[in-house]
Parts: sequence; C-alpha cells; structure tokens
Amino acid sequence: MSSDGAAPVTTKPLLTVNNLVKQFPIRGGVLARVVDRVHAVDGVSFHIDQSETLGLVGESGCGKSTTGRCILRLIEPTSGEVWFEGKDVAAMGKNALRAVARDMQIIFQDPFASLNPRMTVGAIIGEALVIHGLSANRRALEERVVELLERVGLQPDHMRRFPHEFSGGQRQRIGIARALAVEPKLIVCDEPVSALDVSIQAQVINLLEDLQEQFGLTYLFIAHDLSVVEHISTRVAVMYLGRIVEIATAHDLYTNPKHPYTEALLSAVPIPDPTVKRKRVMLQGDVPNPINPPTGCHFHTRCPIRQLPLCANEKPELKAGADGHAVACHLRST
Ligand code: SF4
Repeated sequence: MSSDGAAPVTTKPLLTVNNLVKQFPIRGGVLARVVDRVHAVDGVSFHIDQSETLGLVGESGCGKSTTGRCILRLIEPTSGEVWFEGKDVAAMGKNALRAVARDMQIIFQDPFASLNPRMTVGAIIGEALVIHGLSANRRALEERVVELLERVGLQPDHMRRFPHEFSGGQRQRIGIARALAVEPKLIVCDEPVSALDVSIQAQVINLLEDLQEQFGLTYLFIAHDLSVVEHISTRVAVMYLGRIVEIATAHDLYTNPKHPYTEALLSAVPIPDPTVKRKRVMLQGDVPNPINPPTGCHFHTRCPIRQLPLCANEKPELKAGADGHAVACHLRST
C-alpha cells in the first residue's frame, strides 16, 4: 500500500514526490555564516495521477507553496525526488530541465504581481510561445493568443491592452491563458483564487475544471482554506509545519477526517445547511516557528488529544489504510 494516501495505483502517476525537503538558511554575523535554518518542507511525499487534482491545504507558512515551487524547480529543493513522467526533475541539469519546463506550468496567487505591467496581454501570453518556438510566424502567434483568450472567457481585442486595465478575475484568466499557451500536462495552481472575491472564485474554479476536462490537465491545487479545494479536488493533502498529516479522497477527508488538525480546519468551514451543526474545534496557540519546530509530532504543542511523552518524542509516520486514507498520528489510524 502506498503511504501517500492513494488508493492502490494501477497506472503510473504523472508526478511522484518522494521525501522532499526544503530548508532556507538564515545567515548572520559579519561573515554571513549560516546560523540557523527555516524548515519549510520536511520530508513530503505524494503522487498525482494523470488528469487528477490534488488539493494541498494548510495555514500560511506550512510549506505548501514552497512544495509547489520546489516541484517546478523555481526554488531548489534541499533534498528529495520529484519524478515527472519517469524522470527525476529534482536531479536534472539545466538543459534537461528546460525540456520538461513546458510540461509543468504555474498559476500564481496574485495575478497582478505576476503579470508584467509594461507588456500587453498579447505579449504576456505569447512570450512562452516564442521562447519554446511554438509559433511559425507573427500571424500564427496572434491567432494562438486570440484562441487562448477566448478559451479563458476574454475577448480578442484584450490582447492589445495592459494588465492594469483588467479586474482581478480577468487578470487571473490572463494568468491561466499564459500557463495554457504551451499545452502543459501539469499545472501548479498556487492559491489561484485567494486574492479574488468569493463570487469570482467560483467562476475561476469552474474555468479550471472545464479546461481540465477539455485538455486532460493535472493540477496541484494549493489553498489555505479547505472549502476552496473541496469542489475541485479528487484527493486532498493537509500540511502542517512542513509535513503532510493526512491524505484522502476529497469525500473521505470531508466526511471522515482522522487527524486532529484536519478536524480543526474542517470545523471552521461553514456548512450551507443551517440544520447541520459542526462541532467547532479551537486550537490553542499559534503555529510554532519553523526555524525551531516542535520535536516528535510537529502538532503536539496544539493538539487537543496529544499523549505525552509519546507525541513529543516520536514522529508519527504517514500510514495508509486499505482504502488509501493516510494519516500521521500515533492515536488515530485508518
Ligand atoms: Fe496529536 Fe499525538 Fe496525533 Fe500528533 S501524534 S496529532 S500530537 S495525538
């Protein structure tokens, strides 16, 4: 049985992440020596099948965005493996990495900050087509940009405008069109709707779902809110202080959470039916500093059911049951 929360796998995953670690050095003193490290990602493993969406959820600073960026090598991992279509992206040299870069794209949280304000929308979307040599001439390039704009719900004449002339939702559509331009297989959606109004969030999520169906895309969908990923995810992984604490199918995770941290996150998600009451689980204290994370189970300083000294001394491994539901907790098994 896979330990990353998956049901038994019959086909090869598109992406497999093994024991990914990212530490950021902190330098100090006149010689700028490394005096400490931020343990941002602490041994993360999971896989994503073709055309699947894995939701990756956790509070700010839990390492979810760093995980996404390490997969794409936008940030260099400290150690670990990132297998994409049978090749270890984490170990690739620059040339090999350039070849797979087209297949792995990203949509950023802040669509305004991620779009060059001095470039027209046409130039922004067409840039990757030019870099990867995917347009024979200027006319073909413009036709492809128009096709992409229409595919994400924008107008052809938008290609001559600049990012500041658009609303937040439209700017995110431009970001999606840019990611789609090179026909990727995997898209890391890094909190793509967090900066948008709730009504616009649903539109963008629906668009991503339509595109997935049309092009067979695979998503790693990062969010800090479980309610955002519920609709779009096939499976959901919950992260706390650099580690995955639970992975299950979206249905299992929302109806039968096992880890106390997942229970706490879920208890904060509003339920549309006023007759259904969910017990609110209040966590004590703040998220500990990732420079000096708690020993044993990282969650033990806030866990309402911790058992000491066990939870403070021993790290719980992520273990999956027969149904693939995986949890990292000494007291809760699947
Ligand atoms: Fe809580 Fe212990 Fe389970 Fe960690 S291992 S979640 S501290 S009960």
